Parts: sequence; structure tokens; C-alpha cells
Amino acid sequence: MSEFIIATNNKNKVIEIERILSPLGITAVTAGERGIDLGDVVEDGDSFAANAYIKAKHAFDLCHTPVIADDSGLCVDALGGRPGIFSARYGGEDTSYLDKIGLLLEEMKDVPDSERTAHFSCAVCCILDESTVIEVEGRCEGEIAHSPSGDGGFGYDPIFTVNGKSFASLSAEEKDERSHRGNALRMLREKLMQRSM
Ligand code: IMP
Repeated sequence: MSEFIIATNNKNKVIEIERILSPLGITAVTAGERGIDLGDVVEDGDSFAANAYIKAKHAFDLCHTPVIADDSGLCVDALGGRPGIFSARYGGEDTSYLDKIGLLLEEMKDVPDSERTAHFSCAVCCILDESTVIEVEGRCEGEIAHSPSGDGGFGYDPIFTVNGKSFASLSAEEKDERSHRGNALRMLREKLMQRSM
């Protein structure tokens, strides 16, 4: 299978995407590794899928080679789905994840256990050539904990729990097996395999 450029500047996502794709027989490299600067792109879509497409198209237009982009975020039911597509900007563009987590827990402080449901979503857009766009979306259902735990993962992982364990307390492999990103990328692999049959 050919090489794909991962269209993201988020180092944590690069690590996860490479980790999930490589055992699937897909070679993933960053644009930087191929000497291409993706710069910044305005993510002004109104859904994860729209933003994933914007990022993939921007990268494809610069690289002219197969690309994969993801857009993801945390949707909390008690907050009407927030922060959702604004997860990276929740509480301000430049706030740390410690601050974002603190703000989210403050917003959730009176929400009882039975109403702390949430999910992570991950839309993946893969552009193979001018006329071939593959789009998939993965989800992972869970709950918002009352306090952070674990020291792995990134972003909101310390407060997102599945079966009582936070994503940040899982091994990398355990997170990939359950995660929104893992689910989306496995769907992408199925679609790529169907094309090569
Ligand atoms: P994006 O780069 O615009 O897609 O921003 C996604 C944001 O959602 C990230 O910066 C994190 O805040 C959050 N996010 C997405 N996936 C994960 C995950 O697997 N764990 C924790 N936070 C995540």
C-alpha cells in the first residue's frame, strides 16, 4: 500500500495516527518529513467531517499526493454537545489542557453521575487523487470523571472514562482499541482494502 501524508501539526495526533496505521500496513509520514510546510488552515466548518475535509484538501493541494486528515473532539451531553468542534479552542486558544480540564470540571460540578455521559468523535478524510475522497467517522462513548487520573494520552484523556478507567490511564494499545481515532482509522483501512480488491 502506498504512503500517506498525515495532515496535522498536532504532534500527539501524529503519534496516534502513525501507531494505528502502521500495523495496518499503511505507511504514514508527516508533511514535514517530506519537506512540506502545511502552515495553518482556517477550520471554519460546522462539523468534524467538514473540518477534516478542509484540512485534507489544504494538504492535498500543497502535496499532490495521498493525504489523511482528522478532526476530532469531545462532546459532553450535559453541555449540549460542547465543546465539540471547538474542543481545541475551549476556554481560549492558548489555554493549557490543565486549564481546559479545570474549566470543564467546573462546568460539570453539579452534574450527577447518571448524566455525565460524553463521547469523543473523530472524522477522518482521505484524499487519494483529484476525484477520490474517502470520509469516515469514529466514536467512542464514555463519561466525564469528577477529577483527572492517569498520565498517558493527551488533551481531555485524563477526564474521559470508559468502564471507570480514564483514557490517560490506559496503555497506548488499549486506547487505540477503543478510541474514536482507532475506530475511524480501522474503517478507513477497510475502505482502502475494498478499493485494492
Ligand atoms: P483538532 O485538532 O481541531 O481536531 O482538535 C481536536 C481537539 O480535541 C484536541 O486538541 C483535543 O483537545 C481533543 N481531542 C481529540 N482527540 C482526543 C483524544 O484522543 N484525547 C483527548 N483529547 C482529544
